[in-house]
Amino acid sequence: MPDDCLFCRIVRGEIPAKIVAETEQCIAFRDIDPKAPVHVLVIPREHVDSLDTTNDAMMIGRMALLGAEVARTEGIAESGYRTVINTNAASGQTVFHIHLHVLGGRRMGWPPG
Ligand code: 5GP
Ligand code: ZN
Repeated sequence: MPDDCLFCRIVRGEIPAKIVAETEQCIAFRDIDPKAPVHVLVIPREHVDSLDTTNDAMMIGRMALLGAEVARTEGIAESGYRTVINTNAASGQTVFHIHLHVLGGRRMGWPPG
């Protein structure tokens, strides 16, 4: 696990986070700068830089399914929500530990900016 990765540090409990769900492989916590009334990040405990550097279908599937579970427990599943994985610079990826954004609680624009 890279020592200096922000999200690895959250996994290790070195940086506090508002955790909303945990599994053996993943954790979900509230984004520090929420872009919607509900904004949760789902990450694997294992360090992976981005969607561009993995072929672990189980891990991606687990992240997606935990995101769906969080959406249900946060009460946004029925009204609708957005899941996003930003990948590399042009997408706006700023933290290079793969994460799934779960956004909801308001109307989402389309196309995204
Ligand atoms: P990205 O831009 O890489 O797709 O998303 C990174 C997200 O991580 C951003 O939405 C940002 O607000 C969030 N973030 C950055 N630093 C922290 C932190 O220390 N704690 C939490 N909970 N979220 C963070
Ligand atoms: Zn990491």
